[in-house]
Amino acid sequence: MTASLEAAVDTAGPAPVDRLGRPLRDLRISVTDRCNFRCTYCMPKEIYGRDYAFLPHDQILTFEEIERVACAFVGLGVEKLRITGGEPLVRRNLPDLIAMLAAIDRPDGGGLDLTLTTNGSALRALARPLADAGLRRVTVSLDSLDDAVFGAMNGIEFPVARVLDGIDAALEAGLDPVKVNMVVRRGVNEASVLPMAAWARETGVTLRFIEYMDVGHSNGWRLEEVVPAAELAAVIDAAWPIEPVDAAYRGEVAERWRYADGRGELGIISSVTRPFCGDCTRARLSAEGTLYTCLFAVRGHDVRAQVREDPSDEALLAYLAGIWSGRGDRYSELRSQATSGLPKVEMFAMGG
Ligand code: SAM
Repeated sequence: MTASLEAAVDTAGPAPVDRLGRPLRDLRISVTDRCNFRCTYCMPKEIYGRDYAFLPHDQILTFEEIERVACAFVGLGVEKLRITGGEPLVRRNLPDLIAMLAAIDRPDGGGLDLTLTTNGSALRALARPLADAGLRRVTVSLDSLDDAVFGAMNGIEFPVARVLDGIDAALEAGLDPVKVNMVVRRGVNEASVLPMAAWARETGVTLRFIEYMDVGHSNGWRLEEVVPAAELAAVIDAAWPIEPVDAAYRGEVAERWRYADGRGELGIISSVTRPFCGDCTRARLSAEGTLYTCLFAVRGHDVRAQVREDPSDEALLAYLAGIWSGRGDRYSELRSQATSGLPKVEMFAMGG
């Protein structure tokens, strides 16, 4: 943190809480809106084909701008930074950004939790440079161990073996823990739930099932395609009994379960059937520098303009604190037929 920002934090007063009393703890930073996969539930290839216009380079935040905004957020109470996208590993020189973020100090002297979410396709090449730059851990998305199912879901026939090799590379580089996220979609990859759980029990990675969510519009989401958390837990429990584990901290996204036989844990992220807005401490910064205070937001705040037009650290802190203090979002708790048609932002554009 620069001396000037440190001074601004000292005079900024107490860390902000929002209108529902929620503190600001996590910042998700999207470093690109581009992705090399075309997952059917996120960036279907029929819509995001060769002609799709992704953001031009001058419209995305530079590493220096991202670092400055991240520093300001840490000054306001953020303890965890998650790099995402699009696919973050397609942003050139990403380890350089990781090194810049890893050097940020929290005002209270505590450590910063720095992590990244990836489809794993480039981890064999990048896990070591990222770890050397200061990345602590990684979350990899993988929706099936069956090549036919996974290839159809990722939209480019990307083979399972290469993601598994990426996970191995992450473990070899000391990124620990490796978590694996699996989106479960009724009628598409339900049959992959138990094989994935069996694999995770063998390898020791922490598997988290994600309910299919109504983010954006291009996936044509329908409630019937959601496999509810309770059903997922029952399916696993019937195969290997599980018991609930208390959340590790306020705002933890996944409900945690442990296997009764001691073979590790699993998580279920149930934004649809058991919303957790009351504990949401997350803000999201898109690649073009728009700040969203809810994954289902219909509009955001232009942080890029603030950063490019006003160099003062006091002004940046006051601007961000004001956005958080005014926040009242709780979309998942209000979700209904009426909300599903709202003009929501696509997940790859906002940052997943
Ligand atoms: N490309 C990276 C990846 O694959 O992890 C990061 C971005 S991706 C948008 C982040 C996560 O969002 C992935 O785990 C993905 O499966 C999940 N995701 C995308 N669309 C989703 C949806 N409609 N419902 C639930 N999860 C979704």
